[in-house]
Amino acid sequence: MRVPAWPLRWPGRGHARRLAGLSLAGFVLLQVAASAQPASAQPASAGAAGAGAAGTPAGHRTVVSFTFDDGDADQMTAARILRAYRMPATFYVITGAVGTPNYLTLADLRQLARAGNEIGGHTVSHLDLTHLSAAEARRQICQGRDVLTRWGFRVTSFAYPGAAYDRAAQAIARECGFTGARIATGLRSPGCPGCAAAETIPPARPYAIRTPGQVDTSWTLADLQRVVVTAERSGGGWVPFIFHHVCTTGSCGQLSIKASTLNAFAAWLAQRQRSTGTVVKTVAGVMGGTVRPPVPVRPAAAHGVRNPSLESVTRSSAIDLATESAGRPGTFLTCWMEGGYGDNTARWQRTQDAHSGRWAQQLTMSHFHSGGAQLLPTFDLGACSLPVTAGRSYQLGTWYTSTARTQFTVYYRDGTGRWRYWASSPYFQAAGQWTQAQWQTPPVPAGATGLSFGLSLFSNGTLTTDDYSFAVPPPDSTRRIVDWALLGVLALIGMTVVVRRTRVARLLTRGPRAGPPPGAGSAPRTTRPPAGSGRRVS
Ligand SMILES: [Zn+2]
Repeated sequence: MRVPAWPLRWPGRGHARRLAGLSLAGFVLLQVAASAQPASAQPASAGAAGAGAAGTPAGHRTVVSFTFDDGDADQMTAARILRAYRMPATFYVITGAVGTPNYLTLADLRQLARAGNEIGGHTVSHLDLTHLSAAEARRQICQGRDVLTRWGFRVTSFAYPGAAYDRAAQAIARECGFTGARIATGLRSPGCPGCAAAETIPPARPYAIRTPGQVDTSWTLADLQRVVVTAERSGGGWVPFIFHHVCTTGSCGQLSIKASTLNAFAAWLAQRQRSTGTVVKTVAGVMGGTVRPPVPVRPAAAHGVRNPSLESVTRSSAIDLATESAGRPGTFLTCWMEGGYGDNTARWQRTQDAHSGRWAQQLTMSHFHSGGAQLLPTFDLGACSLPVTAGRSYQLGTWYTSTARTQFTVYYRDGTGRWRYWASSPYFQAAGQWTQAQWQTPPVPAGATGLSFGLSLFSNGTLTTDDYSFAVPPPDSTRRIVDWALLGVLALIGMTVVVRRTRVARLLTRGPRAGPPPGAGSAPRTTRPPAGSGRRVS
């Protein structure tokens, strides 16, 4: 039986790019609170306070923020570079990804906070908030903040995944206790020469804080400097930059900045701080205000598999982490994602060779060297993934045809929203005709709140699946036998008592002193201890 490690590569990571549609997928305590990100703890802003440079009247200063999205592991490099210049930054964290491969760990986050950086919210699963139900969007935004708060951070700032936001998402960000939320457009940049030079302080729309777009490999040091100088010359204001990866090697993904460029920009800004009074602050440092209490959110109610026959297609609710933009429209099965890991090539397609309805989903694996792939209910907080109760077993099912043997792979979501590999079923043999695979899971582990499962391919071959099911299994036969035996014993005891009492009653009615048998009267049995006495037992 296979026991894969963390199986889901988020897109844009590793050498295979099979998860391009999944994106989330992948995915998410102490004394840092005091040092997390109070405005007074920010060395750069404090150090530069009152610098009041020539030509920059007080109150018209330019403020720069370094914001980093997603909590990528290589952002520790950025933190080290900026710290050398006493510049704090804001890190928007996907809580479900914390501690997974290629992402910051909780220890990293605490180290960042202790150094005066800010930890902000970026939801639990990094889904497109504009394509979620209101309930799921609320879970994503509120629970992300709640988890960070439980970890000990002072969380006031939010960034929309993929910068996808609408009026409803803004309202939810406010309801969840965030002071403000950042978008990825609105300020002048190479991509928007006609935009405003800087955001106002405070922003006119705090739940749509404008930025000059996402810094990617096309941005040069001169581009970064130009944005700052333009803001300075236009009367000052706020310029929040968005960064993702910081790369130190030759191969940089699209959404990255070279460490050397970041270092050069920080050095230039430090000098600028002295010459013009332009300062660097965290987002919280600019926004100010108090930290609101976390807002509890109701977990999703139990339900069966969504879109079980794979008929419904919708625009992906996942955000491609390689480009931080919404996935290709119209090509994704509603509530399902393509999971996989290892060294192989997985190709997915809809097929009309269906078990029921019109469509089934076909996975073809080639160039297999390691790993596996499977279709899975989307790793979310319960809109698509399956809410479960710890300790309970569940019956998994699907119909399949396959040229190779296959098995169920099951993942669970923990209380922080992080998904973990949990269990695998025994193998099901290759099948040329539609065959039903069914498996009853062991009791769900403590702390698990959701499940996702799929039938996996672990070799070259073609696997087609359709008509998934998920249910609480009926009591097993052993238990039923025990239950019936117990019932039988109870019935026997009951009959014996009735027979005896009938005999006693007959004897008494024949005797000289007619009356109720001992214990049959109502008085002794209705005598109860007064409420709260607790000691007298009648
Ligand atoms: Zn993001």
